[in-house]
Amino acid sequence: MAATTAKTARDLTGELAFLTRALKAPSLREAAGRLAERARVEGWSHEEFLAACLQREVAAREAHGGEGRIRHARFPARKSLEEFDYDHARGLKRDTVAHLGTLDFVLARENVVFLGPPGTGKTHLAIGLAIRACQAGHRVLFATAAGWVARLADAHTTGRLQAELVRLGRYPLLVVDEVGYIPFEAEAANLFFQLVSARYERASLIVTSNKPFGRWGEVFGDDVVAAAMIDRLVHHAEVVALKGDSYRLKDRDLGRVPAATTDQQ
Ligand code: ADP
Ligand code: MG
Repeated sequence: MAATTAKTARDLTGELAFLTRALKAPSLREAAGRLAERARVEGWSHEEFLAACLQREVAAREAHGGEGRIRHARFPARKSLEEFDYDHARGLKRDTVAHLGTLDFVLARENVVFLGPPGTGKTHLAIGLAIRACQAGHRVLFATAAGWVARLADAHTTGRLQAELVRLGRYPLLVVDEVGYIPFEAEAANLFFQLVSARYERASLIVTSNKPFGRWGEVFGDDVVAAAMIDRLVHHAEVVALKGDSYRLKDRDLGRVPAATTDQQ
């Protein structure tokens, strides 16, 4: 009796492997066993089980497309290189961005660092490049420096830091926005250092910061850690320094009297 059940189960496994291959649905095949187990334990209806199976496959297929990768990356806004106004961005050469836009840096596992005061387009350019990368088939994740540190700290507390760094290593591009807005505690600085180190010559980072490298010692609370990090970050990197006034304030003349009083003129 037991032998018959085992045989049937084996046959079914083979049949599922064959059918999912014929349907070109590898994610469905991967998930089916686990979902069946859950369905049994949780008493799902047949329809619920079928929906769960199909949902896995649909999610996997979506994630394979550029749009899926863009959603997965969790950008705070959608920005493109095409809508970037070079006339406003002083000191930035169109060629530099055009070259970065070819994504050679991702294939070469190099980094890009955007430095400059608030509102000069650092995040915009970082997202623009990262969206290109998504469209070109690279997996990307976006977070602020504080966000990355929180994520790594969480992994560290549960003893999964190395596993998390390995997992992140499968992303050819990570964006670290806003290094420098919030100073790091020693523990956070160390975690961040580990991220940069783990990716060195293996996978790309785009980093943005409102602080020049000379002040990263303050950000990380330690000149030695900051120097070691900058060393790895910029060894193979394009460092782009943005200058000028905030684009956010471009249509406001903050030096003049408020609009209410100028109305009378
Ligand atoms: P930063 O990250 O340097 O503080 P952002 O990239 O967030 O600045 O830019 C602030 C806002 O101004 C965003 O909405 C961005 O799209 C826009 N912006 C900045 N610079 C430019 C530019 N040169 N051309 C078009 N939009 C810009
Ligand atoms: Mg920004």
